[in-house]
Amino acid sequence: MKVDTHCHLDLSVFAEDIDEVLCRATQAGVSECIIPAIDPAHWQKQFTLARTYPHIRFTLGFHPYFLSPLLAKYAVDQLISQLDQTIQETLTGQLKTQFIGVGEIGVDRAIELDIKIQETMFVEQLGLAKQYHLPVIVHHRKSHDRLLGLIKQSGFTGGGIIHAFSGNALVAQAYIELGFKLGIGGTITYPRGSKTREALLAVGLEHCVLETDSPDMPMYGRQGQRNEPAFITDVVTVLADLFGVEESVVEALTTQNTRSVFA
Ligand SMILES: [Zn+2]
Repeated sequence: MKVDTHCHLDLSVFAEDIDEVLCRATQAGVSECIIPAIDPAHWQKQFTLARTYPHIRFTLGFHPYFLSPLLAKYAVDQLISQLDQTIQETLTGQLKTQFIGVGEIGVDRAIELDIKIQETMFVEQLGLAKQYHLPVIVHHRKSHDRLLGLIKQSGFTGGGIIHAFSGNALVAQAYIELGFKLGIGGTITYPRGSKTREALLAVGLEHCVLETDSPDMPMYGRQGQRNEPAFITDVVTVLADLFGVEESVVEALTTQNTRSVFA
């Protein structure tokens, strides 16, 4: 059994055939799918999916990519209190066992949105995660230095997942020391993913969890196609080769790692 810890099944690209997508995932041995949040409009879709499919889990939060239009209309305080209220309602509602964290939150230096506002939103959301004792799913792009600093400064110790980890062993170790697991997806299936594969070898499989980032980040050989949870088997194969273990060992250990994050 495997867990896809990061798949955006709430996006409209899955609206037509979500049943088939989840059926293929089950056939591939994916026992749980975690949908990280992007914005309030999509929170509603996450709720609908979670009500329909009991093996779906989800987190709530504001993804940095989707913040600009929201910040054009609302102040940071308003957005944070909307999230706070939705977290409170969800923690006591029908979906409380399927709601498992805050995310996807983070800092992205490749988008135009002002870095200070991104950092404020990140820290505020870390604060909510701390308040409600929830782990976080963290988005990064060219921002490891800032994220590591902000997590330390905020005193957040709830842990979580560094989504689409790429980087060297030192960066990996710094996140691990702060209580995080590394989300491992399609990147390591590419020949150019050697730096990240080396980092994983150095830190060990006990710090890795599986993810696809569906519909994005296609696996090597599937470029240009919509990604989906069933393709997570490609990541398992590469990790098994890399560590010289059976695929069943990769599946068992990464699933155990995922459970330890969302205990
Ligand atoms: Zn994502």
